[in-house]
Amino acid sequence: MYIIQIASECAPVIKAGGLGDVVYGLSRELETKGHCVEIILPKYDCMRYDHIWGLHDAYLNLSVPWYGAAVHCSVYCGWVHGRLCFFIEPHCEDNFFNRGCYYGCNDDTMRFAFFSKAALEFLQQSNKRPDVIHCHDWQTGLIPVMLYEIYKYHGMGNQRVCYTIHNFKHQGVAGVEILWATGLNREEYYFQYDRLRDNFNPFALNFMKGGINYSNAITTVSPHHAWEVHCGDLGAGLGHTLHLQQDKFSGVLNGIDLDFWNPESDRYIPYHYTKEDVSGKLQNKKALRERLLLQHNDKPLIAYIGRLDQQKGVHLVHHAIYYALHKGAQFVLLGSATEPGINSWFWHEKNFLNNNPDCHLELGFNEELSHLIYAGADMIIVPSNYEPCGLTQMIGLKYGTVPIVRGVGGLVNTVFDRDYDQNKPPEERNGYVFYQSDFQALESTMDRALGLWFDYHDEFQKLIKQSMEYDYSWNHPSDRYIEIYDFIRHK
Ligand code: ADP
Repeated sequence: MYIIQIASECAPVIKAGGLGDVVYGLSRELETKGHCVEIILPKYDCMRYDHIWGLHDAYLNLSVPWYGAAVHCSVYCGWVHGRLCFFIEPHCEDNFFNRGCYYGCNDDTMRFAFFSKAALEFLQQSNKRPDVIHCHDWQTGLIPVMLYEIYKYHGMGNQRVCYTIHNFKHQGVAGVEILWATGLNREEYYFQYDRLRDNFNPFALNFMKGGINYSNAITTVSPHHAWEVHCGDLGAGLGHTLHLQQDKFSGVLNGIDLDFWNPESDRYIPYHYTKEDVSGKLQNKKALRERLLLQHNDKPLIAYIGRLDQQKGVHLVHHAIYYALHKGAQFVLLGSATEPGINSWFWHEKNFLNNNPDCHLELGFNEELSHLIYAGADMIIVPSNYEPCGLTQMIGLKYGTVPIVRGVGGLVNTVFDRDYDQNKPPEERNGYVFYQSDFQALESTMDRALGLWFDYHDEFQKLIKQSMEYDYSWNHPSDRYIEIYDFIRHK
């Protein structure tokens, strides 16, 4: 099959979170299974150019219709760790992707509407006719809309779209100008509830809703989250829309790319180890302490890696730091906050804890350091308010770093409580789970995990091995995507 992924991220060249990992990891696995995969991305000024091999111009005269005129674009092409990627660079005053950031601009909806339009123009003008276009998140929600309403009539009638939603919170809500910019026009037609009209704001259009209504298949990133957004209250207003489209909606658990996340071969950690011999983990813990100037002692080390925002349960992350220190553990946090209030809160904590030899808060994005933390920590905490899939617990499991998680979304599908899980035999349990989003639940679960570490060393080692047994690679999820692609292709 010929598959084109269109997304706003692809790790490690463009990565703000799990989306980047998924686009890269799934593409790699699909190629390993014999499919042809290409990836279309914006050409941001701030992406990691050092991860692109052989970047060269591929299509210099892409003319993208925009507001009734045209924007001239160049398309570059290069290999990101073996994946063939196309990067679209517009030449216009708006400088859509030269902002020193991936997201967070006032005109984000316009930026990604343009990217979606340009990606389709690129396919059309360069005569690329994939069997399946796989789009991701709100940034590409308009692609199936434009494909069906415009490009179908320009030689792209056979292309099918699979649309994956990684986070329902961000939907891309914009005004009518989007229609005039992209050439969709026909205001009255698109302002219908079964097309793009937002379910809450009658004067707004919703990219993600368009993606849901117009795609041939819709997925979200874990089976439990699919249930939460469809039957629970986590669909951020799109539950009813999903209900109407439930025949094409399912949850497919994300995987992790074992070429990148593997303690046996990880290029960023000094000591490799396997589930048969985990002694290297202790050496990595020493290396991590040296790097972060933490005290060497016989305390357990708990880590948090992830964005610092409400989704991730920042109040519990904050509490976990002090509770860990109080209980005689060390704590390492690697995270970045885009919201100014949360950012200054954690900078304050960082300064406050600066001289504490058992704690380090690293505020910012640091891929290399994250690998060393996964390898060196004993436990990783994921106390999310909601979590569509969550990669940190899966990476933690692969590195024998016992996850302590809140039982929501994909965390329910991947972490099984050592003491209480009723559905797994004791030898298949792999971490700790709590359900309430409060301090007591967090504390009692941390107590159980720390208790095992302090008092039952052999049992803790056994739990590490059990967690490393889990295969959360892309092998199974990619088969599921292939089934979906096949299904929509022949429908
Ligand atoms: P989300 O996509 O909601 O941000 P996920 O758990 O799905 O969360 O994916 C997070 C990915 O981003 C993981 O690969 C994690 O290691 C990485 N990550 C998150 N924050 C940072 C950071 N500050 N530095 C390095 N890597 C990070």
